Amino acid sequence: MKQIWRKLTQRFRGERPADHAAALEALFVSNIAGIAQADFRTGKFTRVNSRMCKMLGRSEAELLTLGPHDLQHPEDASRTMPEFIQAMIETGRWEGETRHLLPDGRTMWAMISATVTARDNSGAPLRSIGIAIDVTETRRADEELRAYAEALRLGQMVGRIGTVRRDLVKGVIYVEPAMREIMGLPEGEGPIPTSVWLERVLPEDRRRVMELMRCAYRDNAPEISLDYRTRCPRTGKLRYIELRARYQFGPEGKAVASTGVAIDVTERKEVEQRLAHAAHHDSLTNLPNRTLFRLRLDEALARARRGISFALLCLDLDRFKEVNDTLGHPVGDRLLVAAAARLKAELRETDTLARLGGDEFAIIQSFLLQPQEAAALARRLIEALSRPFTIDGQHVVVGVSIGIVLAPQDGGESEGLLSAADMALYRAKSDGRGIWRYFEPAMNERMQERRELELDLRQALRDDQLELFYQPIVDLASRRVKSFEALLRWRHPQRGLLAPDLFIPLAEEIGLIAPLGDWVLRQACADAVRWPEDIGVAVNFSPVQFQSRPLVKQIAAALRESGLSPRRFEVEITESILIKDKDATLATLGALKTLGVRIAMDDFGTGYSSLSYLQTFPFDKVKIDRSFTRDLDRSRKSNAIVKAVVSLCDALDMVVLAEGVETEAQLEALRREGCRQAQGFLFSPPVAAHELPGLLQELRERPALAIAAA
Ligand code: C2E
Ligand code: MG
Ligand code: MG
Repeated sequence: MKQIWRKLTQRFRGERPADHAAALEALFVSNIAGIAQADFRTGKFTRVNSRMCKMLGRSEAELLTLGPHDLQHPEDASRTMPEFIQAMIETGRWEGETRHLLPDGRTMWAMISATVTARDNSGAPLRSIGIAIDVTETRRADEELRAYAEALRLGQMVGRIGTVRRDLVKGVIYVEPAMREIMGLPEGEGPIPTSVWLERVLPEDRRRVMELMRCAYRDNAPEISLDYRTRCPRTGKLRYIELRARYQFGPEGKAVASTGVAIDVTERKEVEQRLAHAAHHDSLTNLPNRTLFRLRLDEALARARRGISFALLCLDLDRFKEVNDTLGHPVGDRLLVAAAARLKAELRETDTLARLGGDEFAIIQSFLLQPQEAAALARRLIEALSRPFTIDGQHVVVGVSIGIVLAPQDGGESEGLLSAADMALYRAKSDGRGIWRYFEPAMNERMQERRELELDLRQALRDDQLELFYQPIVDLASRRVKSFEALLRWRHPQRGLLAPDLFIPLAEEIGLIAPLGDWVLRQACADAVRWPEDIGVAVNFSPVQFQSRPLVKQIAAALRESGLSPRRFEVEITESILIKDKDATLATLGALKTLGVRIAMDDFGTGYSSLSYLQTFPFDKVKIDRSFTRDLDRSRKSNAIVKAVVSLCDALDMVVLAEGVETEAQLEALRREGCRQAQGFLFSPPVAAHELPGLLQELRERPALAIAAA
């Protein structure tokens, strides 16, 4: 713009007025810029060229009714007009940039150069000529650039990104403000020595960072990536920085400078660390979880291979489930936290305590010098946990059972060690709880057998390997078979006929008792419905079956579907059923009675507080355990017990049955004491269902017993 003007004015300087007029004319017709002549006194345009009309978006006629003041952006007009007038009067020239409002609402930026072309006698400006160039595009680009730079600055601030330039020749670093903030460098301008920058890197990371920089330089690497920490001088907080830079190389091929960005990744690192902690710790006790424990176990095993022994202890709280069930989960949770703290207090820094889940804990006792140290620790742990806890003002008593395995003696890999410790724990639990047991190889064999049995039992249900045997129950007064007790047998393909004691406890433990019990129930009903009308069937139910609510419905359905009258059905339960959840059990028993079936208390006398149970529920029958029958006539005590039970049951209107009658003498004694029913090998062992008609026939014909079958 200035150049154009200079050229034009130079060319016409010193020329005659006619030349001036010609020059002016030439200017107007040229379309390189917008040209306008204005009358200084009226403030209106007197002549405009076509380029000016186009720039301002108005016709020539329209423009001639207006002046510069009418077209400028109001904000600019108020600022520039006084300045313009003053300059024109004093120097005859003005140059500046103003915005113009176009009729379509857009804004046009123009660079303007104005000159006074005529003055009156007093020297006051009369006319002027203005040359305008549209610089809107440039200004818009400038503005965009400014907005972009601002966005970048903001982005740097929010993203905590800083840029650095390093001069390797001078050994200085140019750090802009964002970078100073990130690195905690003092504010200021100008480069800083590389050493000052390095001082801000945490000492633990500095050597590594310097080494990486040295290698990158030595190897002429095109780029370098560094991650390091720095401590904020204000807050003392650690900051994690990731820096990436690209080298510029000199003529000799060696790096002379580098440019890069540094990002403060502290927040991301903290989130990562929190996630890593959560993935490796139990949220309730904050102890290592199973995953971390496995890693620690692998580390301990690696040490064991170098001859450093350790013990693995698996712990399981005793009676924890009872606490959870009776006092609620919040108390259970607090108990676990308190128990974890007590366990931890018995350990050394180098030991690992983990919560594997539920009330299961595990310990790695590292650097073991003698195996006995593990037992000593177990003893301390048992003692620590046997002291009562006070939780929410309540006294809570639990205990702990512990299984111990030693490495490398007992195994060299984690899976095997954990299962060995589990076996030892299982043994500790079944040997009475609140004790510890070392792993022994024999446990492995037993466990193996158990596992096989478990698989076989599942198969047995599918393959119809189960059978019901029946043993007669005889009424001593009428000498008739009153009913048959259904007793389960398993015809194992390899091991032959198995008695229920061998597999029912396992079925209860692994949750197979429900389908098993259901099969027994349906089979017994189906068999019994084919017997003479006055012979009933007695079916045994395990306590586990009683805990499942739908038992009453299940029995009702089995009776309905088989068509067996409820009067002919007897439920046999043991005392242990009444220990747990007594109220719910009594409700179930009540519902069964309403159904019309009879209920017998089995194995009476082997439980805890037998006599009191007889008062809690109106049983129809009490079956005296065969341990009393066995000693009849040999021990006066047994006689007395049978006598007492008979008289008590008579008073409570319950039938008394003696189990396990094997001899005539026992039978005689029972008769004498007033026992009403009997069952035992003397009459018959349990037999297969198809043998029952023959058995009934045989019993009817047996003169010595004079039993009359129906
Ligand atoms: P229980 O209900 O007390 O059954 C009586 C047990 O005594 C039976 O053993 C029977 O064979 C045995 N026995 C009968 N008379 C004599 C005798 O004169 N002398 C001797 N020494 N024993 C005699 P079994 O069949 O081995 O059953 C053992 C236990 O298994 C049963 O004791 C019962 O509690 C349980 N059981 C049997 N079948 C089932 C079932 O289907 N479900 C459930 N839950 N338990 C069952
Ligand atoms: Mg029974
Ligand atoms: Mg019994």
